[in-house]
Amino acid sequence: MTALAETPYIPAGGLTGKLRRLAARALAVTPLTIALDRPLISFTFDDFPKSAAGNGASILEEFGWRATYFAAAGFTGRTTHLGEMHDIGDLKDLKARGHEIACHTYAHDDLSQMSAAEALAGCAKNREYLSSQGVETKFETFAFPYGEAAPATKRALLGAYRALRGVRPGINRGRADRGLLKAVPLDGGEYGLGRALQAVADVKAEPGWLIFYGHDVRTGPSSWGCSPQFLETVCRACEGLDVRPMARALDVVEGKA
Ligand SMILES: [Zn+2]
Repeated sequence: MTALAETPYIPAGGLTGKLRRLAARALAVTPLTIALDRPLISFTFDDFPKSAAGNGASILEEFGWRATYFAAAGFTGRTTHLGEMHDIGDLKDLKARGHEIACHTYAHDDLSQMSAAEALAGCAKNREYLSSQGVETKFETFAFPYGEAAPATKRALLGAYRALRGVRPGINRGRADRGLLKAVPLDGGEYGLGRALQAVADVKAEPGWLIFYGHDVRTGPSSWGCSPQFLETVCRACEGLDVRPMARALDVVEGKA
């Protein structure tokens, strides 16, 4: 099964997968000191489906916020288990409205299964393709497909991006890993909504950088997505907080904003 198949690819599980993920987290840590006196929030959408560009952006914009969209151009113009995917017009439109367009490899590769050089090539292909289609952006940040990383790849990708995001839940604070930032999913129905709201309560109690990641935003979402009501409820919980796309949040963390 290729990563771009319409049915979802599931990365290897079992003990091997667990040990590999542990190594990816523990090794090649590039410290990013996050010392904030108030919470910082980022909403991100991966792959990404049209419903994230439509419903997702509309909801955030009602609150005056912008998101980060991790585009894998191999999905451009296609339909997957997440629904109809973005097209080039969506990317240009989001960019024009102030959202961040960021990199997620071209073919949505499981980067734990390839060399760092192959990972870099897949990312360059994504950026070059999108640039050739007139999507003008700096591609400042990156998200690992499936959250699957490897130590050498983390190091290599930080030569191309300011920060890399994974999918391990948690709030980034204190000494975080610039090469594998934690993120809380926007999925899982009622249970997932509780988890997202708990994360907001946690970041209010002890400031840090809370990054959310989602996929589709529609009524009857996939297992990787959420409903518009789910997203709205999380946004309401974040009202009054500093919400920015990842690159702009990084400016705050690094004292550049
Ligand atoms: Zn993805």
